[in-house]
Amino acid sequence: MLEKKIDRRNLLKIGTTSAVVGTALLFTGCEEEAAAPIFTDATKTAILMDTSLCVECHACRVACQNHNALPVEQSYIKFESVEKGSFPKVEYHLSRNSCMHCTDAPCVDICPVKALYKGDTGFTHMNYDACIGCGMCKMQCPYDVPVIAEVDSARKMFKCQGCEDLITEGQEPACVNTCIANSLKYGPVEEMIDAAKARVEVLKVKYPKANVYGVTQQDGLGLILILRDDAKEFKLVYKDKVTSLA
Ligand code: SF4
Ligand code: SF4
Ligand code: SF4
Repeated sequence: MLEKKIDRRNLLKIGTTSAVVGTALLFTGCEEEAAAPIFTDATKTAILMDTSLCVECHACRVACQNHNALPVEQSYIKFESVEKGSFPKVEYHLSRNSCMHCTDAPCVDICPVKALYKGDTGFTHMNYDACIGCGMCKMQCPYDVPVIAEVDSARKMFKCQGCEDLITEGQEPACVNTCIANSLKYGPVEEMIDAAKARVEVLKVKYPKANVYGVTQQDGLGLILILRDDAKEFKLVYKDKVTSLA
């Protein structure tokens, strides 16, 4: 399942977008293939977010900006919220919008300069120096995560890069470590999924639509979400962009 070669097939699928393909081939050459991922099911980890516990204090967002020395206008974490019902029965639900760290990550396949790569925990890391800001990852991301912006006269892509420095030292990502509400956890992916399923059973008593998001999408995500409502309420239903461009 984890064996993925560079998507020459996908490049051909988007061949109608000739400018894009031209850019890709300029940098990759037709025959080049991506290195095989070095993560396995046993080494994969995930961030688990229990959205029912989040108090939307934005401490995770600020910790992330500090840790990654981001320009103030850039943020790797955004929130999607939805209000339902009417007074006095109003519900407020939210979810996190950031890189989902897809196991099957089309951004990695498409990047013409290999600025994006999978780490041994399955997270999608990136090399900002290599990025040329072409935006091809943004076109292919099923979740519309990458943001292209100009900083110091250079176009770059911005997204959560999975705190590679911290997790390779055995630490938690900065956002997880900062959460004051115990909404964020980090650990082996199977442990996170089991914890999510157990929590959802509790939540279903009050929220019948409670569900775990991220177990199957893109062969499994590195950001697992415990949601109180349907994923589509949070714009989480991913789009098969490759197919739509074919
Ligand atoms: S994992 Fe690291 S880079 Fe990603 S959102 Fe959390 S703090 Fe930011
Ligand atoms: S969510 Fe988008 S940017 Fe993140 S790994 Fe998946 S395809 Fe790449
Ligand atoms: S914007 Fe950067 S990371 Fe995205 S595909 Fe282009 S070079 Fe790769």
